[in-house]
Amino acid sequence: MSRILIAEDEPRISSFLSRGLSANGFTVTLVGDGASAVGHSLTGDFDLLILDIGLPDEDGFSVLRRIREGHASLPVIILTARDSVIDTVTGLQSGADDYMSKPFQFEELLARVRLRLRGDRTPEVTVLRNGDLSLDLRTRRASVGGRSVDLTAREFVLAETFLRSPGQVLSREQLLSHVWGYDFDPGSNIVDVYVRYLRRKLGVARIETLRGMGYRLVDARTEPPTALKHENVDVAQDARTRWLSRSQLGSGKESEHKCIAAR
Ligand code: CA
Repeated sequence: MSRILIAEDEPRISSFLSRGLSANGFTVTLVGDGASAVGHSLTGDFDLLILDIGLPDEDGFSVLRRIREGHASLPVIILTARDSVIDTVTGLQSGADDYMSKPFQFEELLARVRLRLRGDRTPEVTVLRNGDLSLDLRTRRASVGGRSVDLTAREFVLAETFLRSPGQVLSREQLLSHVWGYDFDPGSNIVDVYVRYLRRKLGVARIETLRGMGYRLVDARTEPPTALKHENVDVAQDARTRWLSRSQLGSGKESEHKCIAAR
């Protein structure tokens, strides 16, 4: 199991990172200042450092330089609110391996963490598949039945989240924090909107709604496409109801009445 050190002074962000990384099987240690970041990094107990640039006691760049003097090989991913080319260059020159600007999506950070830890026991998965749906994580391409499907960046991350947990129910809150990150209104219906987009592009039956609980990807490896069957049954039933109402139930008003009752 990989051990990750997080140096971040904003509790909202560090707890968001810590929860997400723990849920993905990493052991996480949090520190909130530069001096502790250097101290902990040099113990050799960690496999990767996520380093915030705006720390209260010391600039993250100088923290990084001090770490590099003692521990040249520790992978470091820098987090910064400052989204400028100069910062990126400074960060990479100070010896960072990678760089993320806030706000960021958890899935993207996770992908970078995994990339930096490669050579670790867990081989990196580059193509996720379920049934005839596949996502290539390197090229960010999606395809259904061999035919490529255009997904926006956000749709792709949502699809990826589902594909990483096939068959499992994912709550709106989980999806929101995974795909949209920590700075999104928890009351938003954006998850529902994007699930609708995905269904339109990948097939309605693929994602099931569990009322009051969330959504889940129907796992084509272990389940028959039940949602699809349901849909067919519904359509068939609808047709039968209509047919009965027309041919057997007499005229106008009454037929409409019985038709509704039959439903
Ligand atoms: Ca900060």
